[in-house]
Amino acid sequence: MNLNLNALIAKNLPNQLEGKVASYIPALAQVNPNQLGIALYDLKNQQIIEAGDSEVRFAIESISKVITLLWAIKKLGLKEVFNYVGSRQTGFAFNSILNMEINKDEHPLNPFVNVGAIMTTSLIVEDKQACVHPFEEILTFAKEICHDPDIYLDDTIYHSEKRTGDLNRSLAYYLKSEKMMIAEVEPSLDTYFKQCSIMVTTKSLANLGAVLANDGIKPWDGKRIISSESATATKSLMMTTGLYNQSGTYSRLIGVPTKSGVGGGLVSAAPHKFGIGIFSPALNNEGNSVAGLTLLEDVANKLDLNIFK
Ligand code: GLN
Repeated sequence: MNLNLNALIAKNLPNQLEGKVASYIPALAQVNPNQLGIALYDLKNQQIIEAGDSEVRFAIESISKVITLLWAIKKLGLKEVFNYVGSRQTGFAFNSILNMEINKDEHPLNPFVNVGAIMTTSLIVEDKQACVHPFEEILTFAKEICHDPDIYLDDTIYHSEKRTGDLNRSLAYYLKSEKMMIAEVEPSLDTYFKQCSIMVTTKSLANLGAVLANDGIKPWDGKRIISSESATATKSLMMTTGLYNQSGTYSRLIGVPTKSGVGGGLVSAAPHKFGIGIFSPALNNEGNSVAGLTLLEDVANKLDLNIFK
């Protein structure tokens, strides 16, 4: 593969200066913004290539929404899960409550904004087959699908999320007041705060992206972990809602299904070609990694990954 990743890191790292690390979760405000790392899982050659801060652990944040969606679908089926969440863009910020008020009587508009993710998490919490610790189930699944046994829950971030998560609390109680909440509010929120606080590297995300790109089969051992229809539906939602209100813009500019998190992570799945994980913590106003997105655009162009081409 003719790709000089180190040169692309050097080119894109200065773009972080245009962003800011998330500060509404105090523990995230401590992270050094001057970082950029990438890992690519190459499905054709069955190898991972990486550069920059690819081994740094960071909080997965909203990328956990991909994992809980996949886990909920695996347990309950695609049809059942989408009885409780939609597949529409919201037109509002990822943590907005306004979109629920405006679209009264509708379930959360998609599983990749906070209110939709709290809903999918509550489906897991309520699932009668679940073990008593839904978070442990999610963590075990995350380790498997990210091919990373070292993924762990960061207590400092978790407590920071929990202490300052009043907007998320209001979203969950709003769902309850509208009789949409499936499980008890507090255990659902607790599981949501924990899932956001698990620590990954760009390699964990490249592996997750590679499973999605490989139709639900783990490329490292050839075993299926999620159904083909789950992988397909999830990639489609990543493309249409994974970057919130910038999803349309990056669908046009990059054309690769991608999900972001306010920890600065990006996971992308280029069907049958690559799984990609990127980390750079400085964010734009929409909560997406600034240098991460410019790096992804360069890589997607050089490797010809736009699915619409
Ligand atoms: N934990 C964050 C929140 O609930 C996740 C948001 C994100 O990564 N966009 O606000």
